[in-house]
Amino acid sequence: MSAPTSASRLAAMTEADVRALDRAHVFHSWSAQGAVDALPIARARGSYFWDYAGKRYLDFSSQLVNVNIGYQHPKVVAAIQEQAARLTTIQPAFANDARSEAARLITEVAPAGLGSVFFTSGGAEANENAIRMARLHTGRHKVLATYRSYHGATAGSITLTGDPRRWPSEPGYPGVVHFWGPYTYRSAFHSEDDAQEAERALAHLRDTLMVEGPHTVAAVVLETVVGTNGILVPPDGYLAGVRALCDEHGILLIADEVMAGFGRCGEWFAIDRWGVTPDLITFAKGVNSGYVPLGGVILSDPVRDTFTDRAYPGGLTYSGHPLACASAVASINALREEGIIDNARMLGESVIGPRLREIASRHPSVGEVRGLGVFWAVELVRDRATREPLVPFNAAGEATTPMARFAAACKDRGLWPFTNVNRTHVVPPCTTTAAEAEEGLAILDEALAVADEYTSGA
Ligand code: PLP
Repeated sequence: MSAPTSASRLAAMTEADVRALDRAHVFHSWSAQGAVDALPIARARGSYFWDYAGKRYLDFSSQLVNVNIGYQHPKVVAAIQEQAARLTTIQPAFANDARSEAARLITEVAPAGLGSVFFTSGGAEANENAIRMARLHTGRHKVLATYRSYHGATAGSITLTGDPRRWPSEPGYPGVVHFWGPYTYRSAFHSEDDAQEAERALAHLRDTLMVEGPHTVAAVVLETVVGTNGILVPPDGYLAGVRALCDEHGILLIADEVMAGFGRCGEWFAIDRWGVTPDLITFAKGVNSGYVPLGGVILSDPVRDTFTDRAYPGGLTYSGHPLACASAVASINALREEGIIDNARMLGESVIGPRLREIASRHPSVGEVRGLGVFWAVELVRDRATREPLVPFNAAGEATTPMARFAAACKDRGLWPFTNVNRTHVVPPCTTTAAEAEEGLAILDEALAVADEYTSGA
């Protein structure tokens, strides 16, 4: 009998083994280690994953909003296996077929004029490098980013981040200035509708530039559609207005499409919906659904040309890793050939959007639903008139109980939700079928009864 392989040994581990070793040796992200009790996952396929007890969960989170193509897509798995058999690793200074083809495909689906790709291992590194490129290209040092944003957890990216995850890492690196982006439901500008919000948010950015000195600003970085901080879809006209302000002052526009890109919004890139061309796009997640870590920056030709004769002062051992790039090639081809992006757009327009609006009409805890594609937020409130959030901004401990109970009600019924502060995000894979989406939305509908208990008058 042949000796067991390490893969077969891993497959033979029990739930108890996995859990015990996790608790003993794995240091978890964003967590008090003593409170971690991670659910061991045995397998996954399509829109579902299973725990060791055989309980099936319909995934309305796409993990961390990255599994755009669903689990175990056979063509992507095969591409990784074939690449592993042929060439598992080669350093970035060599040319490699998988990397060359991934870069070609990414630039083909990107807006015209963005013709080259710098590869990273994930989204945070992509933003780090985009900022470095913008500073060197413009010779300026300041970067403007919005308060309600997440850009990653490395030193620069966490400084750009507008949400409370930044606080423990302060002071961050110098030169980052935060401003308010548009969010009509909780407007920083007391706007009453989207048109007013777009106009006032642009006036605010113009004023911010005026007082910062536009000649000192290298870049404005925006999540095209803000993700974790609430699926904030910019009102029409906003992104075009930001582009115009940047052009007026020689400032680069960086679109962080790490979460919003590669099908999530029913487009290759969310920014396509508004026909705006940024100078740099950062991506990760959906490019290959995280089957192997990959991210990067797509550069406009003028930014690329800055480094024709001058060395670009940045690099990573795993930049353009062959396994990651082979999986990106297979993934982009599958997104294209299987109509997956059209499916995401259809789900948003014909299934998720209409059904969420109908659900909202029956639940007093739903303050607003908003989104596009497979990128939706259900914002939960205690009182629809005052819009008091179901749990307060940056809530912790006891204060999070209503959301924790809502999430537990979903999980009991076999739905894995994505919750953040007072919202649940409906962010399933782009490959989800209409029937699966209906199945999950029916569970969400039932679980919202828990949130309704906390509303005034309930
Ligand atoms: N940018 C956005 C918009 C994100 O949502 C994330 C991660 O959630 C990042 C950047 C950071 O990506 P990573 O976790 O791959 O470093």
